[in-house]
Amino acid sequence: MKTPTLITLTLWPSLVNSCPSVDDMAENTHDLCSGMRFTSESNGIEYLRVVRSAFAGEVQSSFEPKAKPCSTCETPGICCRDEHFVNVRVTRLEAAAISKRLDELDQKKRDDVYFRSRSAVERYGLSGANGPDSKTYACPLFERGIGCLVHDSAKPLPCIAHACYENKADLPPDELLESHQAKVGGLNRRVYGKDSLPIPIPIAILRGAKMETSSTRRP
Ligand code: SF4
Ligand code: SF4
Repeated sequence: MKTPTLITLTLWPSLVNSCPSVDDMAENTHDLCSGMRFTSESNGIEYLRVVRSAFAGEVQSSFEPKAKPCSTCETPGICCRDEHFVNVRVTRLEAAAISKRLDELDQKKRDDVYFRSRSAVERYGLSGANGPDSKTYACPLFERGIGCLVHDSAKPLPCIAHACYENKADLPPDELLESHQAKVGGLNRRVYGKDSLPIPIPIAILRGAKMETSSTRRP
């Protein structure tokens, strides 16, 4: 096995003109982006789930069979813990989905995530949408012994796309990710009435918990 090829977790493209296509939605959903009709945040999170699972299905069926199985990884989760690698940014609606998932965790686990988030913001100098896109961080959603805490419910699209491939030609094309990111951009507009500029996950988590602060005291 050669050194795994790690996909650079792609930053968001322009979110303009990016309403979700009804054709691409799961069978029992429709009208996700009919004009610019508003919908509630909870509906938006459900629609986001549809977009994410459609994307995951395509990645799993068309690309992942050529990737290294994570079950054989010598360093499981290094792709999430590597502070020089992770640069995932999420929109407001994705942040709301993450926040909803965190609310389901027990208090101790949730507090640990907040602690890791505050530490990441301070250690890596992360800031909001106007900060430099190039800043990377160790993801606070990775929990040793468990893995990604939002794997089933709120995993960001770049994370779904990520796997280790031997051959660059086997990677999912950027356009596939970008087209689904554009759909999420459309959902953000339907829920919040405007584009949502993506921000680093640790900032998104702390905003969701309304505790953006430079303090790194363990709660
Ligand atoms: S994607 Fe899977 S195989 Fe690659 S570094 Fe992460 S856990 Fe290991
Ligand atoms: S959101 Fe999950 S998959 Fe993505 S970097 Fe964080 S822990 Fe890893």
